[in-house]
Amino acid sequence: MEPFTLILIAYLEVAQCMGIEHPRPLPPEVTYSPVEGLGCSFGKCSGLYWGPPLRKIKIAAGRASLPLLKHELIHDLLQQRDGNPDRKHRDPAFGECIH
Ligand SMILES: [Zn+2]
Repeated sequence: MEPFTLILIAYLEVAQCMGIEHPRPLPPEVTYSPVEGLGCSFGKCSGLYWGPPLRKIKIAAGRASLPLLKHELIHDLLQQRDGNPDRKHRDPAFGECIH
């Protein structure tokens, strides 16, 4: 299966779990970085999400996993649903929609 298809399936699974029937098209840029950790405000992060207008996700290749991808996709779907990506991870979707 094409990587794009796998990302799309993960995206639609998470959207469905969150009750979002008509999510926007996939974030236009989902890439990985060939390093262990990405620089971020917490020090080193495994993944990063940039909100609109970029809607960009970057995953550290050394830590790549499906749950990590879903985590970053949830940030994008929360941005769509609530207008806020919930950077503090308070939404139950982070616990309930990653499996
Ligand atoms: Zn996060």
